[in-house]
Amino acid sequence: MTARPGGPIDADGLTVKPGFVDIHTHFDGQATWDPHLTPSCWHGVTTAIMGNCGIGFAPVRPDRHDWLIELMEGVEDIPGSALAEGITWGVGVLRRVPRRAGEMPRAVDVGTQIPQAAVRAYVMGDRALDAPTADDLTAMTQAVTDGLRAGALGMSFGRTAGHRSASGQPVPGTYSDEDELVALMTAMAEAGSGVLQVVPAGVGGEMGGDQRHSIDGEVEWISRLGERFRIPMTFLAMVNEQDPHDWQHWFSAVRTANAAGANVRPQVASRAFGMLMGHQSRMNPFRHRRSYRALMDLPLDQRVQALRDPQMKARILAETPDAGDTPSGRSTQPPHVQAALPLRARGGESDSTTNRRLRQHRGHRSARASRSVGGHLRHSAARRRQGVSAVPAVELRGQRLPTISTT
Ligand SMILES: [Zn+2]
Repeated sequence: MTARPGGPIDADGLTVKPGFVDIHTHFDGQATWDPHLTPSCWHGVTTAIMGNCGIGFAPVRPDRHDWLIELMEGVEDIPGSALAEGITWGVGVLRRVPRRAGEMPRAVDVGTQIPQAAVRAYVMGDRALDAPTADDLTAMTQAVTDGLRAGALGMSFGRTAGHRSASGQPVPGTYSDEDELVALMTAMAEAGSGVLQVVPAGVGGEMGGDQRHSIDGEVEWISRLGERFRIPMTFLAMVNEQDPHDWQHWFSAVRTANAAGANVRPQVASRAFGMLMGHQSRMNPFRHRRSYRALMDLPLDQRVQALRDPQMKARILAETPDAGDTPSGRSTQPPHVQAALPLRARGGESDSTTNRRLRQHRGHRSARASRSVGGHLRHSAARRRQGVSAVPAVELRGQRLPTISTT
C-alpha cells in the first residue's frame, strides 16, 4: 500500500474496515518499548488490551521485577532476557495510563487490566503464593480500587494450574479461595467500572494441567458471583478433544445467570490458538507420550540422537498421549512448587480451592450425574461448615504439576 501524508491512499485490492480491538494480549512488556506492537498492527488491530490471565507488570515494586518477568516468561513463553532488557519499569499502582500525556506516541492504543498475581506480589511480596491475611486482602482491594481509578480497564484472574512461571511456580491466585475472589470483586463493584477476565481452572482440560471437568466448578462461581455482583465478566471457554461438548452446559449456566442479572460473556476464539513448539521449548507435542518423557531430561544433542533411532520413533508414535507427569528435574516440578501447595492446605481453618478441586474430582461422578454445574462449590461449602479438614499434604504432593503454555 502506498500513501503520503494528506494524500490519497491506494487501497486497491485491499479491505477497508474498522480496526480490531484485541481483548486478549500479553503485550505488557513489549508495550513499553514498541509503539507499533508488531505483529498485531499488521493484522488490523488498533487497540490491544493487556494484563490478561492474572499476569502482568503493574502494580509492581522494584524488588519484584525479575519475579514478574519469570512469571510472564513461563506462562507465555516470552523470553525473559528480552523482557529484562526491554521493559521500562514504572512506579505506582498503575504505571501506564492509556493515552497519558508524556507517554511515547503509539500506533496502537493500549489498555490494561489489573492482574491478580501482580497485586498479590505487590502486597504480599515473597508470600505471594500463600493465602492472604485479612490485612493483605485489605491492601489488595485498595490496590484494585486505585488501579481502576488510575484508568485500568478491569482486573484478571489466572486459575489454571497449567500456567506456571519459568521455574515452575503456579501463578499467584491460581488457588485463591472464594473469600479472596469476593473481596476483589467487591472492590470492582464499588468502583463501578471494569471487566473481570478469568482464565478458569480446567481451561485446557486434563492435558492443560487441571483436573478433568474442573472448569464446571469455575463456571458455577463465575455465574453465581456474576449474578451477585453484576459486574461485567468474561472467561476463556475453550474446548478440548476429551470433552468437546462441555461448552454446552457452561453456556447454559451462563445464560441462566445472565437472565437473573449477571453480565457474563464466555470468551471464544474463532480458531484454535497457536504456540511455538520444539525440542528446545517447554511445549512439545510428544511430551504426553511416555517414551518421549523418558528422554526429556537429556541434553538436546543426546535427545536428538536418541530420537533418530527408528525403534524409538516408532515407539513414541505408537503410544497414546496421556496426561502423565513430565519428568522432574527440569523446570516442571521444582521442590518449591511441591512445598508451595501444602502450605495452603496446612492452614486447616479455611477450605482452599485446591482442596475443593480435589474433592470435586473425587465426587465427580455423582456431581456429574445430576449435571449440576452449581453443585461443586456449594457441596464443598457445606462440608466446610461441617468442619471437614484440609486434604493432607501428601495428597497434594500427588497432584500432577505439568508445565504448559497456553493463551
Ligand atoms: Zn492469556
